[in-house]
Amino acid sequence: MDNEKAEEMAAADDYRHQQQVRYGSSAEQALQKLQTLRHAAIAHTLNALPTADLDMVERALDDPGDVKTALDEPLSHSLVKAAVDKIETAAENIGFNLRNGVSFGALFAEGSEAMQAPVFGTETSLVMLTSNLLLLVHRLSKLLALSVPLKNKREGFTIEKDFRRIEKKLLKNENLMSQWYSLYYDYSHNPTTPARGDFISIPGEREFSVQDDISESMMWFVVGHEYGHHIMKHGSGGIASAEGEDRDRQHGMELEADMLATWLCMEAGNSEPRNNVFALANAGAVALLATLEFIRKGNQILKNGKSLPGSTRDSHPGIYQRRRAISFLTERLSSPRTSYQFISLQNLYYRIVATTWNVAAKRLAEQHVFGVRPIERTVEWLPR
Ligand SMILES: [Zn+2]
Repeated sequence: MDNEKAEEMAAADDYRHQQQVRYGSSAEQALQKLQTLRHAAIAHTLNALPTADLDMVERALDDPGDVKTALDEPLSHSLVKAAVDKIETAAENIGFNLRNGVSFGALFAEGSEAMQAPVFGTETSLVMLTSNLLLLVHRLSKLLALSVPLKNKREGFTIEKDFRRIEKKLLKNENLMSQWYSLYYDYSHNPTTPARGDFISIPGEREFSVQDDISESMMWFVVGHEYGHHIMKHGSGGIASAEGEDRDRQHGMELEADMLATWLCMEAGNSEPRNNVFALANAGAVALLATLEFIRKGNQILKNGKSLPGSTRDSHPGIYQRRRAISFLTERLSSPRTSYQFISLQNLYYRIVATTWNVAAKRLAEQHVFGVRPIERTVEWLPR
């Protein structure tokens, strides 16, 4: 049985490599990207960790890690792997069957998306996250960490939980609001290859640990959602269109994957040496899904001058339904004592993102009047 598993995983890695060739950059471009990322990573690490020395950072970057294909870029791969390790452990703890396994990794392709696809004739799947999505998680988690004031506690610190106070401070912080706007603009204007934006610095260790937890909770949700499709054996039947019954079935599968991801995140949040409250409450998940929805609305605004009613994608249910699925399960899986706290935190992070979006949406509409239009995507692939 172990032999079969190893063979099927080798086939899955091979299939993933084919997809990287098909949708991703060429090997040469990937290596060039690696060099760019390498310089940025060194600068960033030295900046963020004043005690690190260049030798140490370079050694860490030269470690090829667990890459499985010639197009796996070690830095992005290790980011995905960290989340995958957590989610696979959580799945084992809960008792989900991961069948013969998942070949996972980053994909240097267009768009900010994640996908799962079963590998034909095997009990394995591919799970891939585009590098643009990884960058979005990183940038968004920083902005969220900076948007919520920290308060001293007798032991350590806590985050401000009063929305009115957060909102007031946030709206007055012009620099931060303009960074929020840049994020919406970059991803709405060029969904294919968004600009990366300016370097956002994090003032202290406490903010850094909040950002780290938020970013983990988002990564776990994305990976957990794709693992949800794998666990539920979605996609094996093949769905050709996004209309009528097929569409309802597909939306049902997306909500199922969201609910599994919610469960996996809560399990992963619990098994930390210190709990990750953003994962326990699925606050990172909701903030990320909302941001992605607003970015697609931003794209519509730049294109048409206004956003269209309803969900921004046929393939997936709207944000309202997805939030309902997530909050339903968060509530069901937590104790009566903690569920109120978790749902409040989830709603709080949704409202913070919505506040920044409302301001950004007006500015994007002005940009449309000035003649700014989005750059059209050239390749449409089918994310799940
Ligand atoms: Zn999905």
